[in-house]
Amino acid sequence: MKAVITGGAGFIGSHLSDHLIAQGHEVVALDDLSTGSLSNLSQLRDTPAFRFVQGDILDEELVDRLVAEADTVYHLAAAVGVYNIVDKPLRSLRTNLHGTETVVEAAVRHRVPFMVASTSEVYGKNDADGLKEDDDRIYGSPIKSRWSYAAAKGLDELVAHVHGRESGVPCVITRFFNVVGPRQTGQYGMVVPRFVDQALKHEPITVYGTGTQRRCFGSVFDVVPAMPRLMETPAAYNRAVNLGGHEEVSIKVLADRVVEMTGSRSDITYTDYEEAYGEGYEDMQRRYPDTSLAARLIGYEPTRDLSTIIASLVDHRRSTEAVPQPV
Ligand code: UDP
Repeated sequence: MKAVITGGAGFIGSHLSDHLIAQGHEVVALDDLSTGSLSNLSQLRDTPAFRFVQGDILDEELVDRLVAEADTVYHLAAAVGVYNIVDKPLRSLRTNLHGTETVVEAAVRHRVPFMVASTSEVYGKNDADGLKEDDDRIYGSPIKSRWSYAAAKGLDELVAHVHGRESGVPCVITRFFNVVGPRQTGQYGMVVPRFVDQALKHEPITVYGTGTQRRCFGSVFDVVPAMPRLMETPAAYNRAVNLGGHEEVSIKVLADRVVEMTGSRSDITYTDYEEAYGEGYEDMQRRYPDTSLAARLIGYEPTRDLSTIIASLVDHRRSTEAVPQPV
């Protein structure tokens, strides 16, 4: 089987490339390298079943050509990361709205089963104890750029869902909850790689807000194998499916844990949201997934706890960069 992965040089896309290649599939990774990196794919450089194509999902002709030759499309390309969304709202909107429409329309045109990656951000400020796929969304004003990502991803889901239903082409929507692992960069805001990098360099750990906000971090090694399994499961078609972990922590406790696990001399500092992200920024206090739908569909059960996830990032950073060792 031949898969096209948009965003194939990104964090999740590169792990999905590894996984599908290991399963004996052919993979074409399409990426514009805006936030992805070729170094994420260096392990596949000499793999005949793997091909990298540098290009933009807004390039309709290119997308059409690649999708036409595929058996499955995994659409992961997106403008991601809070800094990116807040700094480049227009570019992010175009990629996340028009880009998804381009990929989905090509998949439907060529009748190629497709997956659209979405996010727990679609739940917005809903902080229910165990967010279920049908739960309500609670958003701030659309003119606050923070909410543009959630709004665009919600529309992506709608585009995928309606196209899937009307065409009968198999379609799965995955909602990722704070997925973390090696190769993830902290450059665009993601908290775990940021804290790990800060701790390894003995620089201040930058907790934003009070640090009482909570997240549930999921391992990329739990989430990625679930993706092809969902694509092989007709009961998953035309559904949105939560994927993530089960260990919830406050950001303050996360900071403490990273310092402890790295033996860092870093201090933990507190910064106002507005100073960190700009005026009018609103954060979600809590986001905890109910993954029982994925469990019912494919037996999904995350097995990596937070310490294992942090350790996988620390090992990766130590092996790829000349970071100072703890003293
Ligand atoms: N965060 C933080 N320090 C940082 C980066 C992020 O305290 O250097 C906080 C952020 O404000 C949020 C949480 O960590 O409350 C998770 O942030 P991330 O951007 O990783 O994910 P999301 O906000 O999308 O859940």
